[in-house]
Amino acid sequence: MVPRFRFAPSPTGTPHIGNLHTALFSWALARALGGDFVLRIEDTDPDRNTPAAAQAMMNALTWLGIDWDEGPDIGGDFGPYVQSARLPRHQEIAAQLLAADLAYYGDDSNQPATQQANQPLRLRLPRSGETVVNDALRGPITFDNSLLADPVLVRSNGRPLYHLAAMTDDHDMGITHVVRGEEWIASAPIHVQLYRALGWAEPVWIHLPLILNNRGQKLSKRDPEGGYLINDFQDAGYLPEAMFNYLLLLGWSPDGEQEIVDKWDVRKQFRLERLSTSPAVFAWDKLNWVNRQYLQRLSDGQLADLIRPFLEDAYGDMPMSADWLVKVTAVIRPDIAKLEDAVDLAEWAFVDDFAYSSSARFALATAPASPVILRLITQLAALVILDKPTAQSILQQMRADLQAAKGWRAPDVFHPIRAALTGHTEGRPLPEIMGILGKERTLQRLARALKSV
Ligand code: GLU
Repeated sequence: MVPRFRFAPSPTGTPHIGNLHTALFSWALARALGGDFVLRIEDTDPDRNTPAAAQAMMNALTWLGIDWDEGPDIGGDFGPYVQSARLPRHQEIAAQLLAADLAYYGDDSNQPATQQANQPLRLRLPRSGETVVNDALRGPITFDNSLLADPVLVRSNGRPLYHLAAMTDDHDMGITHVVRGEEWIASAPIHVQLYRALGWAEPVWIHLPLILNNRGQKLSKRDPEGGYLINDFQDAGYLPEAMFNYLLLLGWSPDGEQEIVDKWDVRKQFRLERLSTSPAVFAWDKLNWVNRQYLQRLSDGQLADLIRPFLEDAYGDMPMSADWLVKVTAVIRPDIAKLEDAVDLAEWAFVDDFAYSSSARFALATAPASPVILRLITQLAALVILDKPTAQSILQQMRADLQAAKGWRAPDVFHPIRAALTGHTEGRPLPEIMGILGKERTLQRLARALKSV
């Protein structure tokens, strides 16, 4: 039998990390076992669902590289894949439970199981004994039946709720493995009892651990570190391959030391035995590291194409040729962790009247600044073209001369120059920067800095 996994999001709000993490783990187990992966949209809450949210979820999955074998957009043998379209079947199951006295209307389980207007339909749970949820990741989880309240299956307005709709759909779609978040463990005994009441074979239950922020709290949309919304990661310029890889590391340890993994590794190695049961902490540093690994694989030209929209957003249309942008990219790339970083890192290349940082102002106000800048202006004035090698030799020569003549050290010479050219005292190598700015812009900046000293 082919194992069948599913991801069953409710289309409410914007997709976030938690959604994609659950989807990814379910997908990865399916792919590693050669199983099917089904997408079902659980849109049974008319107050909170929107079609746009369902589309956004599908877009986010596709962006991450998750594909599905059956789903609302592509159909399949077990459709429809939108839960609201399966309502007649949920009603049929509700009627079946009622007829068998396994469910009752109202709040009083002693009442006969007849239809009562404006009353919710509840599942009749056993009052004593235990319900064991056999979680394939965590082992058996035992619940005391006397502590379980009979859950509502159908609201008084006739609307079936999650327990009934999702379990019926999972059964009807032949789902063999239910992979979902840890927050569903508390409901799992209800689901086990529902399967039992209906005489259905239970699926394998797999409850994934939570993801926490670095203060040990559950991720929340209101988190000051960011809402963990997929849009935010896209806007910041995390690559989908990197997100795919990083999310896998939140709860899975690949074989060996290698943490950079792709779809092929998932197919080969992703096993339940290597999943963790303890919460995973979302670590931005680690995500940035993973993203850098993927950025490193790109050529300067490819990276330039990716950062171009970020730069255009910040600085308007590109002032120079595509070639020029590739050169800028080559200079700033060692400091880029995510694409949006390029905006600040490349400011010097786009903006001529930038503000000086406080350390830049300090460097320009200290004694050697004026003579150093003046000397550089003199040297550059005689040039026809300023390129990187020329800049390099001029700077080296100046540094050696000034050391010999005045005893000035490298920071005395280079801090004011860098401050004048970029507004900062730290950054990428000066010859590269001067080569990209060219003679005119370099001279203008040196003159501007002299005036502001
Ligand atoms: N619709 C539920 C949710 O989005 C699905 C839970 C499940 O996977 O069973 O949380």
